[in-house]
Amino acid sequence: MKYKTHMIITLARPSLHLSLLYYLLGLTILLLPLSVNSDTQTKIEAKSTKPPLTAVHEYVLDNGLKVLVKQDKRAPIAVMYIWYKVGSSYEQEGLTGVSHVLEHMMFKGTEKHPTGEFNRILAENGAQDNAFTSQDYTAYYEVIASDRLEVAMELEADRMRGVLLPPEEFKKELEVVKEERRWRTEDKPTSMTYEQFQANAFINSPYRTPVIGWMTDLDNMTVKDARAWYKKWYTPNNATLVVAGDVEPEAIHQMVQKHFASIKKTVLPELKVQKEVKQIGLRSIQVKVPAKVPYLIMGYKSPNLLTAKEKWEPYALEVLASVLDGGSSARLVKELVRKQEIATSVSASHSGYGRLPDLFTFSGIPAKNSSVSNLRKAIEVEIDKLKTQLVSNEELSRVKAQTIASEVYERDSIKHQASVMGFLESVGLGHRLMDEYVDNIAAITAQQIQAVAKKYLIEDGLTVAELIPQAIDPQKVHKPAPALRH
Ligand SMILES: [Zn+2]
Repeated sequence: MKYKTHMIITLARPSLHLSLLYYLLGLTILLLPLSVNSDTQTKIEAKSTKPPLTAVHEYVLDNGLKVLVKQDKRAPIAVMYIWYKVGSSYEQEGLTGVSHVLEHMMFKGTEKHPTGEFNRILAENGAQDNAFTSQDYTAYYEVIASDRLEVAMELEADRMRGVLLPPEEFKKELEVVKEERRWRTEDKPTSMTYEQFQANAFINSPYRTPVIGWMTDLDNMTVKDARAWYKKWYTPNNATLVVAGDVEPEAIHQMVQKHFASIKKTVLPELKVQKEVKQIGLRSIQVKVPAKVPYLIMGYKSPNLLTAKEKWEPYALEVLASVLDGGSSARLVKELVRKQEIATSVSASHSGYGRLPDLFTFSGIPAKNSSVSNLRKAIEVEIDKLKTQLVSNEELSRVKAQTIASEVYERDSIKHQASVMGFLESVGLGHRLMDEYVDNIAAITAQQIQAVAKKYLIEDGLTVAELIPQAIDPQKVHKPAPALRH
């Protein structure tokens, strides 16, 4: 279950204390027995066909806030996420980047907790906190000793409606975001290529715009824009609260009631359908920026789980991606990097978990004695093989076992579980999809992989971007990374 790669994740502050937290969160321990809760208000979600890892307690407050609680007592830690259903795919032209700018402003104070207090209080309580913005959601989280969870919950509830957005702070933070854009995109040739690629692959899908926003939109963004965005989308009925770890679901229910129940429900704006127009032929672009090496991105229009008519297709594409790029024995690295020495790196992935249909993407750097066009041809040869020859049983079993094992391994982390539940809810797939994932991957056949290769990896649905390196100005001093927090 792969995340979207293009999300803007805040860089966490490293510390010894945090490494210990991560160690605790990542501990490998045998599965815990299912805990049963007698609270009648709490609906226990469990998969009936096989024993679930642990049950998820799920309920909705009267104001529309969706709450998911998962108990996991391996370490005295709690992870809390709050997910808002808003991201760059909700933004209109001229306002790109506003979701991410608002994410920054969420740390800039409320009436109750002025600027700086949010971070100070959490730090004093030994918490790790952060936030990220993606195309489909904006999320905030805290990792904290479970007996101090209420500190974090009070702060999150307070900033759901209480953020002040002071104009002076906004002005400063907008500059921070612009610096972030320069550093993460404009000074990185592969990121620039990706941004141009995405904008050309889509005509009217909002996935065409970057999460960080176009610079011209950032230049013209006002505090009024951020305030309107906040009022519109930051409401209990547009959010999912996920709590996982060493917590008692009944106590969490009471805590959630205490801090969130008084926040009023609002009427959410109606989202217009923005269905991407059908692609009717190959699109190809060149990106000329200062760079040391060339770079290739190829993306094929593909279905997502939420809207696919055939629900198995996105899973088949995910397994297909693993056949090509799932570990050191996968086809692309074996053929193109090690055997033919055409590429120094090459990868394939499918984005099927978004709110809207996305792409099956290849990217790579040609080897020194090769070229982008050779790399593209070699990738197309691998695609043709998938269309004409069935993947053998042996290879398919190995790839599926690997895909499932890596997911199961990741799920050992409380934080991973909480984040998967939250993002699945936020894009409209529902957290229970997580329980079905392993079965859905295991059910994919070689014939289905061949069928999706033939149906989707076709030239009429393809967009290609080639980075053509330009001379790097020796006068240009490479600035050190800005101290980005969000
Ligand atoms: Zn940021």
